[in-house]
Amino acid sequence: MALLQLSEPGQSSAPHQRKLSAGIDLGTTNSLVASVRSGKAETLADSEGRHLLPSVVRYIGPSIAVGYQAKAESVRDPLNTIVSVKRLLGRSVTELKTLGSRPPYRFSGENRAVPRIHTVMGDFSPVEISAEILKSLGQRATRTLGGELDGVVITVPAYFDDAQRQATKDAARLAGLKVLRLLNEPTAAAVAYGLDADSDGVHAIYDLGGGTFDISILRLRRGVFEVMATGGDSALGGDDIDRVLAEWIMGQAGISDDVDHTLRRRLLRDACAAKEALTEQTSCPIELDLGDGKCWKGTLDRSQFNALVDPIIRKTLIPCRRALRDAGIGVQEIDNIVLVGGSTRVPRVRELVGEFFGSHPLVDIDPDRVVAIGAAIQADILVGNKPGEEMLLLDVNPLSLGIETMGGLVEKVIPRNTTIPVARAQEFTTFKDGQTAMAIHVLQGERELVRDCRSLARFELRDIPPMVAGAARIRVTFAVDADGLLSVEAREESTGIRASVEIKPSYGLSDGEIESMLRDSIDHAAEDMESRRLREQQVEAQRVIEALQAALRDDGDELLDPAERESIETGLAELKALSVGDDHRKIKAGVQALEERCAFYVERRMNASVRKAMSGHKVEEFD
Ligand code: ADP
Ligand code: MG
Repeated sequence: MALLQLSEPGQSSAPHQRKLSAGIDLGTTNSLVASVRSGKAETLADSEGRHLLPSVVRYIGPSIAVGYQAKAESVRDPLNTIVSVKRLLGRSVTELKTLGSRPPYRFSGENRAVPRIHTVMGDFSPVEISAEILKSLGQRATRTLGGELDGVVITVPAYFDDAQRQATKDAARLAGLKVLRLLNEPTAAAVAYGLDADSDGVHAIYDLGGGTFDISILRLRRGVFEVMATGGDSALGGDDIDRVLAEWIMGQAGISDDVDHTLRRRLLRDACAAKEALTEQTSCPIELDLGDGKCWKGTLDRSQFNALVDPIIRKTLIPCRRALRDAGIGVQEIDNIVLVGGSTRVPRVRELVGEFFGSHPLVDIDPDRVVAIGAAIQADILVGNKPGEEMLLLDVNPLSLGIETMGGLVEKVIPRNTTIPVARAQEFTTFKDGQTAMAIHVLQGERELVRDCRSLARFELRDIPPMVAGAARIRVTFAVDADGLLSVEAREESTGIRASVEIKPSYGLSDGEIESMLRDSIDHAAEDMESRRLREQQVEAQRVIEALQAALRDDGDELLDPAERESIETGLAELKALSVGDDHRKIKAGVQALEERCAFYVERRMNASVRKAMSGHKVEEFD
């Protein structure tokens, strides 16, 4: 009797049963997708061999462009071309006002609502815009790997709060991707460097991208990563370097402050090009097209550049110092510094970071790709391709979580930098005699007063039996899962009544909203189709009108009597009127009607031209 071979669940016995997975670095400036293939994690290129996908989405109507194509048009069409959408992800309208530089888009929505950006194709939320980027990367992976993805790991900055993480997940769902886990970007970078295979040690991950700065201190102990501390600045990066250089160019070229969007984007583009050139060269010529045939020419050398950007780079050292303090270690205890993000290519960044930590940073893996590569390695494990090799990644929650107590104060339930997943409970009591309901207000932040922290959610615990003040025992439990998402439950201990919220912050999206957005996009698809047909018919009408007008000029007097001519002119006017309308069917019918009305004229013209061609020839020649 043959023995049946049993394989463990999740363990594939044949190579073709390997699950397909990918790691996605959804960046502010650039995004990438990577996957483990033949045991090696690598970033995937587009059909033209480019690995980076600029995180730029352009709403052209009827289609949407993502990446290089969109970026190329951002100067010409700034209002319909959305850049750095990650900065807006998970933010309310009110919060946008606190961002360092307000993007130029036309926003709709009020206060705590999700902002929507107005474009020629309608209004879109940051979640929908991010979903376009994710969709594009997902398609690239599906095409390259030759099958649908079983799951993805998406990276987020370590200090992303609940709303921002939730918004990232919503965007992935909208893009049709199954999220295995959100992973902090610095943790992904450490995984890419294989620091987990090294001996025990403490590592600093310094990530300076286009729009965000992120510092993390990781400890590796017995093969397990622990994030000891994180810090950073969500509004600091290469974009700031570009802005400083653009201002310098404006000063040199004598351009006043109130430049229009187009010139501003052009300035930023030229500043960025100069910055990247100065990574390789020690000086760089700059030519700025001022429009009207005018042009400004100048030169920027490395030492001037260094002096201009020094304050920005030094600003990154403040969170570094704080993270070391939070981790309770000195700079000499750091074994490795890993550089991540395109802006760490700037030589001055390497110099100052090396100086600060007192040693040379690791730069072997392309700093653009290192996060996506780490995410791919993690995705490969989570999707079940490496049973028995579950890597334990412990993260910390970046901001304290607490609830409002009397007097507008915040009581912290989970302090910042607590290792997650975690659940903590605290007891509260009623304030008034006979109080039967209690309002729970969940907050995030380091400050003492409610008004200085971020409000995540409010809910009520009702039906508390009437008791004297202070007698009820209400236990509030905060739980943060591995993705850093929070749920809160309140329970009255004597009766067991409870109320809970999954923190779907008001700027996050509910399932219902996601569904209605999906429905919207399907509805829009029909609308988009209609508008394309309309445009096609308008073009066709225009063609017929112009041809007819040309013919009338040519031989109208010769071939038509006044009544006939008038009838054709009337038909022309009718079609002109129809073609500015919005019903493609009517325009089509109008084109047909005019063609029928003119059929006799067309025939006469043909005969006339045949006569002309034949004159002087004998009929037999044409047989
Ligand atoms: P993000 O994580 O924000 O998406 P990236 O890690 O892709 O950003 O970094 C993008 C930033 O890196 C941009 O500001 C870009 O100008 C900058 N960058 C890319 N290459 C270079 C280079 N060679 N020299 C200097 N800066 C660079
Ligand atoms: Mg990045």
